[in-house]
Amino acid sequence: MRINLLKPGMVLIMLAVTALSCKKNAEDKMADTTNLKTEKTALYENFSCEMLSLNTTGPVTEANGPSNKRWPNGSTVKVRFSGGSPYVRSKVTQYAKSWEAYANITFSFVADNAPADIKIAFVPPGSSSYIGTDARYQSTSMNFGWFNDNTSDTDFRRTTVHEFGHALGLGHEQSHPDSNIPWNRQAVYDYYMGPPNNWDKAKIDRNVLAVSPRNGYNYNAYDTKSIMHYPVQARFTTNNTVIAPNNTTISEGDIAYVRTYYPGRN
Ligand SMILES: [Zn+2]
Repeated sequence: MRINLLKPGMVLIMLAVTALSCKKNAEDKMADTTNLKTEKTALYENFSCEMLSLNTTGPVTEANGPSNKRWPNGSTVKVRFSGGSPYVRSKVTQYAKSWEAYANITFSFVADNAPADIKIAFVPPGSSSYIGTDARYQSTSMNFGWFNDNTSDTDFRRTTVHEFGHALGLGHEQSHPDSNIPWNRQAVYDYYMGPPNNWDKAKIDRNVLAVSPRNGYNYNAYDTKSIMHYPVQARFTTNNTVIAPNNTTISEGDIAYVRTYYPGRN
């Protein structure tokens, strides 16, 4: 979901802090690398993100986070690493900066001990990012829990672009009010209550099944190609439909949105 918060008066949620913690299913590690179809299914379908928030009123999505979390348009956002091999750092840098072709934001990667807006760690097991300018107030604002020197280039791209989408202020596309996903709610509960997530029902409702409010926000058209869309497994829908299983790069819809969200690149 790509959002542009229009209501400045959301006082009750001004103190909310929202993060997304993206956990990768351990099944990924078991992917059969000799079978491309199996590998792709394991890699792209078993991906989940936990949204963490201090806000307990109503569905918790990025859309009802505190105020507008956009960086000033045209600004340079400083990014700092803690840990990570030179190769892993190079891949994160490469794919983070892929947003710069469309969003009028520059990510400047600074020395490990320098002041920074976005602070990246590499602590297993999950990956996460705070939304937009929330990053300023965190000692670690983004984490890549499963990256190492053996990570595939596709996974570096998929995960880095997704997390830096959050860092730009973008939310999850499946929470778009027009997504109309025919959730098989029991299957969703069964899956997320098990490992590696081990979520309770309330957390699943909040993080997976919530639909963002239509009023008060700007949306472009619901985009199943968006890099910000969870992969939705067939067993999670009542009509056995797979949604967005292989989104690994910035979509045309993402491009169109960030060009309006951070205008001026072209
Ligand atoms: Zn996410």
